[in-house]
Amino acid sequence: MPYVFAPAAPASAAIGGSQARFAVHRIYCIGRNYAEHAAEMGASVDRGNPVFFCKPADAIVADGADIPYPPATQELHHEVEMVVALHSGGADISEQRALEHVFGYGVGLDLTRRDLQAVAKAKGMPWDSAKAFDHAAPLSAIRAAVEIGHPQSAALTLEVNGQMRQSTDIAQMIFSVPEIIALLSRLFELKAGDLIFTGTPAGVGPLVRGDRFHARLGDIAELRGCIV
Ligand code: MN
Repeated sequence: MPYVFAPAAPASAAIGGSQARFAVHRIYCIGRNYAEHAAEMGASVDRGNPVFFCKPADAIVADGADIPYPPATQELHHEVEMVVALHSGGADISEQRALEHVFGYGVGLDLTRRDLQAVAKAKGMPWDSAKAFDHAAPLSAIRAAVEIGHPQSAALTLEVNGQMRQSTDIAQMIFSVPEIIALLSRLFELKAGDLIFTGTPAGVGPLVRGDRFHARLGDIAELRGCIV
């Protein structure tokens, strides 16, 4: 059956050391996964009630690309995060088997229209316009777990114009990667191509036109870009 117009090419990410691409199915994100960031946002950490939200797959922006300052905000914020890429999925995945579904790891920014998020929070409204806008998910090349293993500890940092803005170790995450996968899989049937942004540490702050950012996850992945 023909389509009435040509479907868009699937969103995809680069894979370190490979010509193959990682086709993106969905982007899941967890909020409040580092205690100091939850505190700076005035939020409490509730292990019984993790915060999940989504971004569209085509919000991905490749390493090195310019990112247009988004419309409808006066307060674009950076959130540097480790990103987990799945090569298989399922429902009701156990923590013990969760890492079998992980293809690899990268570093990304969960770009946020903080002013719109504040309004949404105050009114009990959805976060989509704050989180799921165009170009809202810059992402490094993904490094395959078969090469690098499954990092339990790695520096996660973000510099803007050469100044350190965010710095932590992924060992500080409240929900671990296996826990996040298990929890998400009780809400959604996870699929090959899903990405999970695993939460940001303290130090979130504004990005303005002309800012150059450099995010790193240990020696695993790095991401550069410029706000234009
Ligand atoms: Mn985030």
